[in-house]
Amino acid sequence: MLKFDIEKKQGLARVGIIHTPHGDIKTPAFVGAATRATVKALTMKEMHDLGSQAILANTYHLVLRPGTELIKEAGGLAEFSSWHGPTFTDSGGFQIFSLPNVKISEKGVKFKSHIDGANFEMTPESSMQAQWAIGADIHMAFDHLAKSENYNDMKEAMHRTHAWLDRCINEHQKLKASLSPEQYLYAVVQGGTFNELRAESAKYCASKDVDGFGIGGVFTAEGMAEMLQVVNSILPENKPRHLLGMGQEPIDLFDGAENGCDTFDCVGPTRMARNGSLYTYDGRINIKNAKYTHDFTPLMIDCDCECCKNYTKAYLHHLFKTDEITAKVLASIHNEHFVVSVVNKIRESLIGNTFTNYKSSFLSRYYHK
Ligand SMILES: [Zn+2]
Repeated sequence: MLKFDIEKKQGLARVGIIHTPHGDIKTPAFVGAATRATVKALTMKEMHDLGSQAILANTYHLVLRPGTELIKEAGGLAEFSSWHGPTFTDSGGFQIFSLPNVKISEKGVKFKSHIDGANFEMTPESSMQAQWAIGADIHMAFDHLAKSENYNDMKEAMHRTHAWLDRCINEHQKLKASLSPEQYLYAVVQGGTFNELRAESAKYCASKDVDGFGIGGVFTAEGMAEMLQVVNSILPENKPRHLLGMGQEPIDLFDGAENGCDTFDCVGPTRMARNGSLYTYDGRINIKNAKYTHDFTPLMIDCDCECCKNYTKAYLHHLFKTDEITAKVLASIHNEHFVVSVVNKIRESLIGNTFTNYKSSFLSRYYHK
């Protein structure tokens, strides 16, 4: 069983440490989105230096390129990418179900590669085999993402996800008996925007022999806090919970941690960075805006990232206007550091009993409310 120590609780929120074979994750924590075994525009050393504790890679993308056997041959994701810390993989479900023309059956999913149209099939068993070959510390069960947001589609997807979870657990146990080192499996809670389905899914996942939980699928930003209250009140307290694909908006990190989530991942911060949309305590700014042409102050005076410590807004503006690669690098360092730091400060505020104040002062300044 994955070792997870809870150091402190406040309502549904918790402060803890997840102990993985590649090191500890102090939670709540923001996990870097390393889709193709790299965080776009950043080296693993830069990720480490900006304070990131863990990365999450994407099984769908790694199955297509370079293929999971090559990563296994390299010694696993950590060795292959030189990320010497905790690693996660998602199941591939989210990306596959987002492709056009997927064929779904009880057995699994047939799809065409978005790169060259080649035919692939993924089943709960093959997703587990792929994730074991990639060798991340924490795997996600293969889940079915609903084809629409209506109730019946969400319900069908949830039931299929539950049936597939049982098969994932069986396959995981088989692989666990034959492979080393230890790798761990999270069940994924589905149910979309319907809290009644979320509760049913949380109960089903809670009853299973898994190491933790991913909370996935579609939900609305407005309904997220309430949905998490429903789900995390049901899930067993002693296992970690990962909120899949959320964290572009700081409010989601506060709501997620407050309502019992331990880790988060999102491609949003680095994607926005590459487009010149950069976080500040006063909200996001577009560094390409002409008003920064002569602004020789740092992006944020009180940020200790490599970008803010060394460069001015005018310089960043110039790099973006001239389409220099360094623009994307510096911007990604800052945005990733920003979300990692916000979650680290949420952790500190929970320890120091100042979470409520920190949340309200941060959000009122950030969203100008
Ligand atoms: Zn910075």
